[in-house]
Amino acid sequence: MSYRNYMEDAVLNEYDNVVKEIEGICRCERCKEDMIAYTLNRMSAKYVVTDLGHAYTKLNQLKVQNRMDIVVQLIEASDIVRNNPRH
Ligand SMILES: [Zn+2]
Repeated sequence: MSYRNYMEDAVLNEYDNVVKEIEGICRCERCKEDMIAYTLNRMSAKYVVTDLGHAYTKLNQLKVQNRMDIVVQLIEASDIVRNNPRH
């Protein structure tokens, strides 16, 4: 059995959308990781016991409200990272 927090997949997925939409976000690996870590710390983990294929299905089922929450946190994270870049 393996455990997977599919919130990680969801946040990574929304990160890609947010950096495309918002100008001025540094896309370097360090800033990306900082933004994702900040966001994940503020979202509830969603663990599933699964293989990768099943996790992918779950990701698609993530509620719209959850996606919006992730986007809001990512935007907040982008502000913090922009003001305190660690690259
Ligand atoms: Zn950077």
